[in-house]
Amino acid sequence: MSMLPIVTTKAELRSAIANWRAKGERVGLVPTMGALHAGHLSLIDVARRRVQRTVATIFVNPKQFGANEDFGAYPRDEASDAEKLAGAGCDLLYAPSVGEIYPEGFATNVHVSGVTEGLCGATRSGHFDGVATVVTKLLLQARPDVAVFSEKDYQQLLTIKRLVGDLDIDVEIVDAPIVREADGLAMSSRNRYLSAEERQVAAALPRTLRHIAESLAKSGDNISKPLQDGRETLRAAGFTRIDYIEVRDADTLAPLNRVRGNARIFAAAIIGRTRLIDNMPIPCGDLR
Ligand code: AMP
Repeated sequence: MSMLPIVTTKAELRSAIANWRAKGERVGLVPTMGALHAGHLSLIDVARRRVQRTVATIFVNPKQFGANEDFGAYPRDEASDAEKLAGAGCDLLYAPSVGEIYPEGFATNVHVSGVTEGLCGATRSGHFDGVATVVTKLLLQARPDVAVFSEKDYQQLLTIKRLVGDLDIDVEIVDAPIVREADGLAMSSRNRYLSAEERQVAAALPRTLRHIAESLAKSGDNISKPLQDGRETLRAAGFTRIDYIEVRDADTLAPLNRVRGNARIFAAAIIGRTRLIDNMPIPCGDLR
């Protein structure tokens, strides 16, 4: 049995946070969809280094899943998640129902332009509106001092920074690095969909991105050849579909046709029924 307090309504959430604030304690928020792994727990750690009290949220947000996506199948394991959060030193879990977040009559949509275009925005229609809407609500419900999001979902991170700035939400968005398995695969709740064989294939994604990033760091003028080679490597390794492999500016997500400044490589690829995403910086100090 975990000792972690769990609340399911925004009223309880606000009252717990108000008690801490009355004592002068600062509050950090770590939004998740549960099925927690060491990557999520690293975000709790990042928050705890900055504030006295950390709240994790678990909400599998129906608005960010497309009609043909895995909303129904998405792994849910609140008891085990609560144990892990307690072990990581989290102070409170907020696990609202769908009705608590989207009550009858809910009719508002938060849409961020620009950074949501292309990459995952091209194939996951409505996804970033769903993310932006729920994150706006969670930030307004908890009103934390800081909220932590990882570079694992880099386009999501920039979307959230944009909306917080544009809507004058008074919170500091803190970025956390990607936590990876020993073979380089970025941890993800969706990795549990992979069969043993697919799990071997999956490691080709970070390996291929690293290889491309290193080659572009040496010579960044012609990016199309290394990207094409990367696509072929992923197909040969066993990926069944590649949604994208692209180089973009890390600050604006503007597409780049040669490597310069703060460039990053992004990919989404599918093995069987599992879609994996990853991204990494191109260490191009010499090419600036
Ligand atoms: P999710 O539960 O997938 O919605 O993710 C919740 C938060 O955990 C987001 O900020 C993600 O970017 C972050 N996250 C997911 N995977 C990782 C990882 N491998 N390393 C660090 N953070 C992660």
